Amino acid sequence: MNLKKTCCTLLVPLLTLIMHVPAHAAAETISLEVITSSEPSLHANFTLVMGEKDMVLIDAPFTNADAHRLVADMLETGKNLTTIYITHDHPDHFWAMQVVMDAYPDAKVISHPDVVADIWRSIPFKIARWSPMLGNNGPEFPTAPVPMTQDWFEVEGHRLEVVGPMQGDHHNATAIWIPELRALIAGDIAFQGIHVWLGETLEEQRLDWVANLNALMELDPEVVVAGHKRPGMDDDVSSLAFTRDYIVDFNREAKTARNSNVLIAKMRELYPDVIDVLDNFILVNSAQVGVGEIPPWEE
Ligand SMILES: [Zn+2]
Repeated sequence: MNLKKTCCTLLVPLLTLIMHVPAHAAAETISLEVITSSEPSLHANFTLVMGEKDMVLIDAPFTNADAHRLVADMLETGKNLTTIYITHDHPDHFWAMQVVMDAYPDAKVISHPDVVADIWRSIPFKIARWSPMLGNNGPEFPTAPVPMTQDWFEVEGHRLEVVGPMQGDHHNATAIWIPELRALIAGDIAFQGIHVWLGETLEEQRLDWVANLNALMELDPEVVVAGHKRPGMDDDVSSLAFTRDYIVDFNREAKTARNSNVLIAKMRELYPDVIDVLDNFILVNSAQVGVGEIPPWEE
């Protein structure tokens, strides 16, 4: 009995050691760089996952100008771009990716098959909606990623896993989980310091989103890159809690608000430091949907 007990007591620290050593060794050769775009690109985040020589990019900007700035940052890394992964079918996460593809013509552009189908379906009305506004700051011929045949990809042998699709600000939102960094590149499942886009969801879907945020917190991530953030904020797990609390508050206030102006004022009062983009586009449209003044946006 005693021997067995000693054996097991020793085994636990030994196993912990074995499990931790490879993770630390690998972590030395993979790193993240998060680039937050300008306000015309809705302060979306783009993440470079960098190995020694190769890198991958998660999401691409809305405007050509932000895509050129992103390419400039990427060129300065001196690394070879192998893959662009697109998290979901919102134009602020892929619209100007041709600029990146032109700079790195050998890079594969991939996404979950459901996201690819969403993008091909919606490109015609995205052109009608956004091209007049963007003019030559947007793509002439927007394109879509290629569907993946498995739910993971790699940079120099380091694994990146697709999470989802699940309900985020889009019903087919995906994220990337990088186990060895305990990093969640959350796409539009998480926001950080910026009003949360609730213009495509009814209460039931927003509750699903809250459940997804709670489940993602169970991963206990050390790094969380939100889909959008107020520039300068941290890329950490606080974005999951922020997004969850914001949605819970919005759902509660939407039930009693007489109209969207009341809901807008209440959310601004609750979140005085939170920013908006494109002339209050996010909160105004979300609030109008939240009180039923307009139907949910279709993407
Ligand atoms: Zn977005």
